[in-house]
Amino acid sequence: MMTASEALSKKILIVGGGTAGWMAANLMAACWMEQGFEIKLIESPDIGIIGVGEGSTPQLKSFFDFLGIQESEWMPACNATYKNGIRFDGWSSMPGCESYFHPFESDLDKQTQAVFFQQCDLRRNQIKAFTNPTRFYVSAKLAELKLKPIAPTNFPVKMGYGYHFDSGLLGVFLRDKAKARGVQHISAKIESTQLNAAGEIASVHTTGGEIFCADLFVDCTGFSGLLLQKALQVPFIKFSENLFNDSAIAMPSVQEPQVATQTVSTAMKHGWAWEIPLVNRKGNGYVYSSAFCSPDQAEFELRSKLGLLDSDVQARHLSMNVGRVEKHWAKNCLAVGLSQGFIEPLEATALHIVQETLQGFIDAWELGGFTTINQEKFNTRINNRFEGVRDYIVAHYVCNSREDTDYWRANRRHDVLSDNLKAVIETWVSNGDLASLLKARNMDKYYLPMSWYALLSGYGIFPNTLPTAVFNSTEESLKVVDDFVAACCVHFSP
Ligand SMILES: Cc1cc2nc3c(=O)[nH]c(=O)nc-3n(C[C@H](O)[C@H](O)[C@H](O)COP(=O)(O)OP(=O)(O)OC[C@H]3O[C@@H](n4cnc5c(N)ncnc54)[C@H](O)[C@@H]3O)c2cc1C
Repeated sequence: MMTASEALSKKILIVGGGTAGWMAANLMAACWMEQGFEIKLIESPDIGIIGVGEGSTPQLKSFFDFLGIQESEWMPACNATYKNGIRFDGWSSMPGCESYFHPFESDLDKQTQAVFFQQCDLRRNQIKAFTNPTRFYVSAKLAELKLKPIAPTNFPVKMGYGYHFDSGLLGVFLRDKAKARGVQHISAKIESTQLNAAGEIASVHTTGGEIFCADLFVDCTGFSGLLLQKALQVPFIKFSENLFNDSAIAMPSVQEPQVATQTVSTAMKHGWAWEIPLVNRKGNGYVYSSAFCSPDQAEFELRSKLGLLDSDVQARHLSMNVGRVEKHWAKNCLAVGLSQGFIEPLEATALHIVQETLQGFIDAWELGGFTTINQEKFNTRINNRFEGVRDYIVAHYVCNSREDTDYWRANRRHDVLSDNLKAVIETWVSNGDLASLLKARNMDKYYLPMSWYALLSGYGIFPNTLPTAVFNSTEESLKVVDDFVAACCVHFSP
């Protein structure tokens, strides 16, 4: 076990200055700088950052809260907007399921959610009911009306919301904050890595001939996975068996006068397109599978959707490594961000995982006296999170009912489902107790029953044949829901 004075001499070297690198620098500096740790971050301006990743889950709020940074400071600096949730358009061809909204949990929705669950459970029991989640959530209505999820002070409810932001500006903002906390910033390109006799990383060497040693190396080198994957040879487990998308295109478009407060995910021929509202522009992109569609075809389809066929706006083409490393923390190296793995951005979960990884690591390293004692437990925890997120994303694809391309049929017909996902679908269609199942399998740590109900009912996953029995109070219950939702929205502003 490390003594307190030995802990004081810890040197941390973060390699990579994308969002992951600067988030790591800020959190580690906030936790350890005052204990005398030395934290350096090296990044290569020649390589640059990936420059996408502009939507978050509600978790990001706790990152800024922990650092004591107010929305009024960081949001304007990053052209950020509020996110009530995600609207999924065109993923299902079932009548009534052309579009649905996946909300974030908020205090306001407890009552109406009970009605939503009740309606779904009736329908799972083959009784006619109204089951599109959009109608039941205040956040869905706020999004439709382009209202912010910020309740006035005299309206004491806790709202759940995420953000949209410019990833380049967020990097600059976090860099300045980290430097203000004492993190040293070095612009250099790492050319090679030296291991010691124990197989740990001893030093990294720059193209300029400088050598940097550290006790802990934090690999934030993006998809190149320079330290953990390349130097320490930690294997990468691909998720390509059931997540087919491996490519993306990103391009901006002009913002409308009233800025939206939701992400829109629209099904395309061979994937899906995101639309993310920032203060000054929209971020758009198409995530697709290169096995089904060429980059040119994808760009044509995206430009057609955006009305930018004749525009000279540049499209950026990107490849994605979808999967995760076998271990996120190995020897004296922690991988954070794209270097540890990536699941396509359908639910904007990447920075959420970055945060979980960093918080989990900080706890595990500190509680273990700055040794590797908690390494295995930590790796299992992060791997479970990756699998939990993957299952939810795979569910979007297996539940689609599109018939227009081989891509959608292949996504629906494969049977590479985890035991957890199989159990969720079986429980849902057999009208079992979904909430208990999620809890028993620890799956509610990643997605709450609300999210599963929204997804499964949003895609119309119900028994096909409905008897003529009608739940008579349906319209009455829905009127109460509509009135409640409308009354709540009066308290929110654009
Ligand atoms: C299409 C797409 C859409 C996405 N959408 C979302 C989203 O909506 N929400 C979300 O949370 N996430 C999203 N992500 C993920 C998100 O972009 C990343 O998680 C986030 O930007 C963090 O990236 P990073 O810092 O790990 O890597 P990068 O931004 O790639 O940074 C890597 C850093 O390492 C440095 N580097 C690399 N090699 C060397 C070297 N040899 N020497 C020195 N420095 C080096 C680079 O210079 C750079 O600074 C998306 C990703 C993709 C591909």
